[in-house]
Amino acid sequence: MKILLTNDDGIHAPGLLALAEAAEHLGEIAAVAPDRERSACGHAMTMRDPLRVAEKGWTGPGRGWQVNGLPVDCVNVARKVAWPEGIDLVLSGINNGPNLGFDVTYSGTVAGAMEGCINHIRSIAVSMAIFVDGSPYHYETGTRWLQENLDWLVRLELPELVFLNINIPAIEFSEVQGHRFTRMGKRVYEDRVEYRSDPWGRPYYWQGGVVVMKTDEEGSDVRAVTEGFVSITPISLDWTHSAVLDSLQSRSTAHSR
Ligand code: MN
Repeated sequence: MKILLTNDDGIHAPGLLALAEAAEHLGEIAAVAPDRERSACGHAMTMRDPLRVAEKGWTGPGRGWQVNGLPVDCVNVARKVAWPEGIDLVLSGINNGPNLGFDVTYSGTVAGAMEGCINHIRSIAVSMAIFVDGSPYHYETGTRWLQENLDWLVRLELPELVFLNINIPAIEFSEVQGHRFTRMGKRVYEDRVEYRSDPWGRPYYWQGGVVVMKTDEEGSDVRAVTEGFVSITPISLDWTHSAVLDSLQSRSTAHSR
């Protein structure tokens, strides 16, 4: 099996090595990742600048390239440079923080898996769900859980344009309660934009800051990791809301000419 590893934390991120350790037993590894941290870039791609690709910076198994671009760029470069004969599995992560609820839309980690999925490759995004800044990431928990579960996750029957978003609670492996199949929750950030002033008294704003997570509904990804479960969410790239579409179409037939 030809495995592509990518992330948005950069080629030097410990989470990428943890992912390699988890996937090594499945096949051959190639890591293609940004040359620096590019978190929260979403599904952006580089179009106006050249992509520089260098086989350096990777200390894990197999081969590794760094790219001066984003996770989407990395997946596409990898299809040319690392695995021109085709990729069987894209693993993106392990991110140094959760990708729950609407994070999915901002996340570069998830975008890496999305790009694999668009290219008809089995794709999985993995994140360590820490909630307190400075607390340990417990990548070893992520590695161990993936070592024990990747085999069936990779073989899961999924429809076209569906990939998996996995969040692993950042706790000791022995404390993990198991896994749950979940839906995207509605994680809400509060006080996201912070006002500050520079040495000349001019205002500026900084996005990020303190994350306040609201209690989320039953069956959601947020709820699962908060209760110590690994959350597995199938995500569809077909963003059409079928029920609304059906209702619009049935109403419009009455009025359309
Ligand atoms: Mn990240």
